[in-house]
Amino acid sequence: MSTLPACPQCQSEFTYEDGGLYICPECAHEWSAQAAETAEETTKVWRDAAGNILQDGDTVTVIKDLKLKGGGGVVKIGTKVKNIRLVDGDHDIDCKIDGFGQMGLKTEFVKKV
Ligand SMILES: [Zn+2]
Repeated sequence: MSTLPACPQCQSEFTYEDGGLYICPECAHEWSAQAAETAEETTKVWRDAAGNILQDGDTVTVIKDLKLKGGGGVVKIGTKVKNIRLVDGDHDIDCKIDGFGQMGLKTEFVKKV
């Protein structure tokens, strides 16, 4: 009656949770519930509109005109964005664009150069 993961050491299914730790009563192995989740997140891959894998520091171009919120202007199609930083979130690229400053972009609207 439990959805907790089996013990990675002895595969026991009697794992229980205590204060953010998973504990195995059979071999006394303890591991962090949080560490397990973080490990999954690091496997996230960012891809541009064409399916190329993006990495921190890449240069991309914008593939469609992007209107900025609050009348901040338009980032024109073809705008080159250097040294991107990949982040989690709705806008998953953190970058700085000449004339606009720091802003967030979506990977689906850019293409790797
Ligand atoms: Zn165990």
